Amino acid sequence: MEADTGRRYRLYPTGEQAQQLTSWGHTCRWLYNTALEQRQFAWRQRKVTLGYSAQCAFLTEARRELDWVAGLPAQSGQQVLRHLDQAYRNWWDPRHPAGPPTRKRKSSRLSVPFPGQAISVRRLNRRWGAVKLPKIGEVKFRWSRSLGGVIRNAVVSFDGTAWHVGFGIHAGITKPKTHARPDTVVGVDRGVTIALAMSDERLWNRTFTSPGQERTLARLKSKAGRQETARRQLGAATSNRARRVRAQIARIEAKVRHRRGDFVAWAANRLCGRYAIVKIERLDIHAMTTTAKGTIEEPGINVRQKAGLNRAILDKGWGLFHTALDNRARFTGTRIGRVPAAYTSQRCNHCGFTHRNNRESQAVFWCRSCGYQAHADVNAAINIRDAAEVAPPYTGRAVRDRNRKASCRPPTQRRPQPALETGISRIL
Ligand SMILES: [Zn+2]
Repeated sequence: MEADTGRRYRLYPTGEQAQQLTSWGHTCRWLYNTALEQRQFAWRQRKVTLGYSAQCAFLTEARRELDWVAGLPAQSGQQVLRHLDQAYRNWWDPRHPAGPPTRKRKSSRLSVPFPGQAISVRRLNRRWGAVKLPKIGEVKFRWSRSLGGVIRNAVVSFDGTAWHVGFGIHAGITKPKTHARPDTVVGVDRGVTIALAMSDERLWNRTFTSPGQERTLARLKSKAGRQETARRQLGAATSNRARRVRAQIARIEAKVRHRRGDFVAWAANRLCGRYAIVKIERLDIHAMTTTAKGTIEEPGINVRQKAGLNRAILDKGWGLFHTALDNRARFTGTRIGRVPAAYTSQRCNHCGFTHRNNRESQAVFWCRSCGYQAHADVNAAINIRDAAEVAPPYTGRAVRDRNRKASCRPPTQRRPQPALETGISRIL
């Protein structure tokens, strides 16, 4: 019974509980990084792949020797090792887009995983619930929506502003075989100025930061930069003031992140509800947004402009939108089609004439051959709707990942690996 969907609730730990969870979060990060190093070391030195059970034995040893590791619930530690194991399996799976597992940075989101058996959930009243965690006891959370199934696992996390608890849920979702409106097709063009343009002439856009927030963010970031330089020069520890500035930055960034997440979920829900087939351009966003800086021998050109475009692409949440579509499609029976991205913005969907001068401006498309005029993004979206699909989606990434420099090579035989029986949710 694997988790097939997720639920996330705002968690309200007491001061003491929050302190405990914070320290566990750091222990989990340490454990993940140490286990990763151990696997890399074992491979480099002896060409041995350490598995989950071998690493669990090391964990037991570490718990005996180090008090602060023993403080973390044993099941959480095991769950961290399972996550690392899954990260390796994803990397080895040619159909999965993941690259090699990387270290968790100190600035990354704090999280403490728990298996389903270690926790229990109780509803207190209409608005509140409580989750019972090992060694901590009950922690209240805001019951903002129904669970909708059986809890398989939980992750408590802190994103810089608030605590959340996420549950992996087995809801018994089976993808509907047919969509409620069969044979409906839409093409979606993702853009930098207009976030989403549809072939049915709808344009959806939203900005996620207000001008005031952008100013505040720029001011705070330069302040944090100055503080960090000063700290390095003095060789001192991070000051409480610097911590406060970082917390302020994190609060604003979390707001922006939430708005972006809300927008992509809203858009994905609309599109999947209305259309049986949603077609988007097949874009490798990772490759598109890698830095333009280049190397000393081959410096990139237009580095500043490229950096700005990267920011804009990531700001509009192109990759997130893709994930949200895939997620939502499981409930509606929608099929997500990928089409080649070349020339969609230059081709006239009326006569097929392709030329870059057809693009009159950012917003206006004006065909030089037949005189057809339309919104440039809508014209592109119609081209996407009419284009032939390409499959499978992840081949390009898997091949590139194999060539990527990595500290630990995958086994040469790439057989599909059996899924872990423990039911780790990929959703969380
Ligand atoms: Zn034309």
